[in-house]
Amino acid sequence: MRDPQSIAVNEDARMIPVWSILVATAAFVLVEYYFWLILPDQQHHAPPIGFRIYFNLSWGVLTALYFLMVGYISRDAPHRAMSVRFWVVICFVMPACIGVVLYFLLRAPIVSRCPACGTHALGDFHFCPQCDYQLAASCGNCFRTVRSTDQFCTRCGHELARDHMPARLRVLGEKG
Ligand SMILES: [Zn+2]
Ligand SMILES: [Zn+2]
Repeated sequence: MRDPQSIAVNEDARMIPVWSILVATAAFVLVEYYFWLILPDQQHHAPPIGFRIYFNLSWGVLTALYFLMVGYISRDAPHRAMSVRFWVVICFVMPACIGVVLYFLLRAPIVSRCPACGTHALGDFHFCPQCDYQLAASCGNCFRTVRSTDQFCTRCGHELARDHMPARLRVLGEKG
């Protein structure tokens, strides 16, 4: 059986994929290249150098950030059972980062999969709705989430070791 904790750590390690970092870097270089080398030849009156540095760097950083955000969305959407393809297309079609803003306004809560049966489960579920697999450690008295290393519930003070089958231990091992 897979260890749910190690899966979570691995998936969170790279929320921004390598391709989007590469594309963002390339986009930054291209924007700087255009604004410093191509554009001045077409302008009759070049603006002051301070303004140009500010203007050129701002556009470069904004463009790079845009591709980093699209990369982030491509990693974040699957955690929320949202279509990656649909949202990446929306981001590229909508002008001026509207797609990115829409994504963060409309994104669904994080869903995970039950390690035992694969059912989609929301992030705050303690038990799988289909097979009763314990997804998170909880207090046997007030049923709030506790850490698996806690000795006492931080909300109600219940001594977790006195639970018949301590919830905090069941998530660490096999289903009892
Ligand atoms: Zn399940
Ligand atoms: Zn409690």
